[in-house]
Amino acid sequence: MNRAMNVCLFAAMTMLAPLGAHAADTVPKSEHVLAHDLLTQMIGTDTTSEHGSTTGLAEQLAQRFLKAGFAKADVQVVGDDPKRRNLVVRLRGRGERQPILLLAHLDVVEARREDWHYDPFKLTELDGYYYGRGTMDIKGAGAGLIATLLRFHQEGFKPKGDYILALTAGEEDGVSNGIQWLLAHRPELIRAQYSINVDGGGPEIRNGRPEVVAVETAEKVYASYTLTVRNPGGHSSLPTPDNAIYRLAAGLMRLSKLEFPLHTNSATRGYYARLATLYSGQLAADMRAVAHDPSDPAAVKRLAATTPYNDAHLRTTCVPTLLTGGDAENALPQMARATVNCRIMPDEQPAHVEAMIKQALADPQIAVAPVAPAPTSPPSPINKVLFAHIGEAAKAVWGHAMPVSPYMSAGASDSVFLRAAGMPSYVFNGIAYDVNDDRSHGQDERILVKSFYESLAFNDQLLKGL
Ligand SMILES: [Zn+2]
Repeated sequence: MNRAMNVCLFAAMTMLAPLGAHAADTVPKSEHVLAHDLLTQMIGTDTTSEHGSTTGLAEQLAQRFLKAGFAKADVQVVGDDPKRRNLVVRLRGRGERQPILLLAHLDVVEARREDWHYDPFKLTELDGYYYGRGTMDIKGAGAGLIATLLRFHQEGFKPKGDYILALTAGEEDGVSNGIQWLLAHRPELIRAQYSINVDGGGPEIRNGRPEVVAVETAEKVYASYTLTVRNPGGHSSLPTPDNAIYRLAAGLMRLSKLEFPLHTNSATRGYYARLATLYSGQLAADMRAVAHDPSDPAAVKRLAATTPYNDAHLRTTCVPTLLTGGDAENALPQMARATVNCRIMPDEQPAHVEAMIKQALADPQIAVAPVAPAPTSPPSPINKVLFAHIGEAAKAVWGHAMPVSPYMSAGASDSVFLRAAGMPSYVFNGIAYDVNDDRSHGQDERILVKSFYESLAFNDQLLKGL
């Protein structure tokens, strides 16, 4: 779930207010009933990796598609891990375009009953909100996609090309990632011209109404490295000049001075172009100069210096996050190790980042090793046709023109794997949300009831158009 970075940016600029009264309801009431039933079932099924499973839910949802008359071959529950299976459903189209992949994950992060005011694994409606673990991340949007595709099928609506719906496991826990598994083992099931991943934010509510649709087209690549110093050690009563902890500490001090080069990409330029309209003075001028292609280097430098948020959107960052070492209070350390976590700009090579870390450490006795291989994940091109359709669908539903803006996430979603595999991916959904009220992964997670049903109309408008 990626919206967190957007949230902090706009946190000071918004307030909670009822949505405008413009929303056009183009879907039948029976779909509202179905969507509510799906959400109840999905929230009511524990899909945490700690004490739940996605498999049972994938199988129950598969039954719904089979009962509705989908061909068996078009409804597949797949995966190696018995607790973490994925559901892939294909709605057949007219073959006039390549398939489009629709992606949502079924798993949720842990929620403890004692931390919540309501049972996290039961859908609770209260004061205009649906509460439950996964309402926002991302079973709400998943339930909406299922309802939309089931109704399309029931109505006999055939889209221009296939829609493939992948409801996956392991997005949150990193143990057994569903989309990675599908890419490696069943690529034919999900092959598509591009993917829409609903695991992001919906239209952002500001001043009481949805104002903008932010579409993530790029994300930074997550990569961690261990920095390890080894030493023969000895008795602490007889210190030697070469000490593993001092050596590592000295290297970390040199690393603290490392600054990665500043630069922009299509996602960040598009993002700052929109943001510039919300600010004034030098800051707005700098944002516009950053949004220009090529960006003005002096403006990029000034903007990066304003906040850690802006800095993180304009360069790769690496920071030590873990430190271990030593064997006993009375022994010279035989080992000292730091873990450095990097968020790499999507158009930069992880190998280059590793080389820069080594150069900054300037000590061959500090061994640098990646914790896991980092995918390279180039930004997805701004898909003008898709963006135009998103804008039209939003206008049809909420009754006013809404800018559709690209952005780069400093966080991570499953789209990183799709982009690495060569499939463009666009992260957004139709559930409008107040940017000051993002409770994904948190206590009393919730979505607006009204937004949930409006998202069905948004899906209808968007997916009938593509
Ligand atoms: Zn998510």
